[in-house]
Amino acid sequence: MTARSFRPPVRTLMGPGPSDVHPRQLEALGRPTVGHLDPTFIELMDEIKGMLQYAFRTENRLTMPISAPGSAGMEAAFVNLVEPGDTVIVCRNGVFGARMKENVERCGATAVMVEDDWGSPVDPEKVEDALKRHPEAKIVAFVHAETSTGARSDAETLCRLARDHDCLTIVDAVTSLGGIPLEVDRWGIDAIYSGTQKCLSCTPGLSPVSYSERAIEAIQNRSTKVQSWFLDLNLIMGYWGDGGGSSKRAYHHTAPVNSLYGLHEALVMLTEEGLENAWARHRHMHEALKAGLEAMGLSFVVDEAYRLPELNSVWTPAGIDEAAVRARLLQEFNLEIGAGLGAFAGKVWRIGLMGHSARAENVMLCLSALEAILGEMEAPIERGAATSAAQRVLSA
Ligand SMILES: *Cc1c(COP(=O)(O)O)cnc(C)c1O
Repeated sequence: MTARSFRPPVRTLMGPGPSDVHPRQLEALGRPTVGHLDPTFIELMDEIKGMLQYAFRTENRLTMPISAPGSAGMEAAFVNLVEPGDTVIVCRNGVFGARMKENVERCGATAVMVEDDWGSPVDPEKVEDALKRHPEAKIVAFVHAETSTGARSDAETLCRLARDHDCLTIVDAVTSLGGIPLEVDRWGIDAIYSGTQKCLSCTPGLSPVSYSERAIEAIQNRSTKVQSWFLDLNLIMGYWGDGGGSSKRAYHHTAPVNSLYGLHEALVMLTEEGLENAWARHRHMHEALKAGLEAMGLSFVVDEAYRLPELNSVWTPAGIDEAAVRARLLQEFNLEIGAGLGAFAGKVWRIGLMGHSARAENVMLCLSALEAILGEMEAPIERGAATSAAQRVLSA
């Protein structure tokens, strides 16, 4: 066999993640590897914890990245907090709520489902109703930013309802961290997980998480062992430390040293930009993209009131093969956008503006490339209006 190096093409990533990785992070990944208990590495871990507290807006001492993708952050929350026989209220308004149900059931617990339509947010009234009907419920779990549809749910209200009924909360913030306002302490979130490859514009493979004191207490008072050895937070805390300085770190697994250099660089960049400025940038780029898409005659799936700026779902024009458009964008413009999932398959495009992808040149590339291809396919769109509409927003 002939072995040769893999040289990927340089793409512009405007799908549901991964998003464009900033060159500063790619450069950080190539720095010399040190031992995972090296004193300099322990310092790096402490800095990452501090900057994640900033990003999550929390003082939680248990704030750190899990050494695996967002799905592992999800699984960690469920296996640590849910015990066999528990009842968990799970809100489902897209793909990721369905995965929460799967996690609950694999923990030997019962999932009480609160269902909302794809493209709608979780309805707090339905959650309150489920809490009243199920006083035995221990946890409420929901997705803050549903990447499969582009809908944002009201995390603050849902957490308040859960607390009023003495429940802990598990919140999926994979697509919200760094992209839209997220207030772990102010909203009283108990367990939250995110990912590095969405609005932090880092490489995939790590899952920042944070747990409240109430959640830590629940984990420590479990009557059964956490069934996953790798994701048992009691053990992971021994490696990452619980905020009590850099002494006595015990080996649990070998941290992905270089990936953590990349995350560190991403968090330094977030701190330099300022969290609120990052939120504002995502919103501004969304406004520009929206102006262009609407000038072309495309319309959004999700109502403006709860639309995510970082994930733009639009209906594909009538009579157009949406997959053929995506294939041509990739081939001719090196541009990736996302397809619709589930009920939206074949009907919707999902255009991501996450992290380093949320910038003016990406908005302009996406609008001009989409218009060029749809024009050639003789789609029923307005031509020649999109980029100037976007530019008006960008320079406003
Ligand atoms: C991407 C995503 C996940 C899964 O993250 P991976 O890093 O792909 O494992 C979970 N929840 C939401 C809302 C996501 O967008």
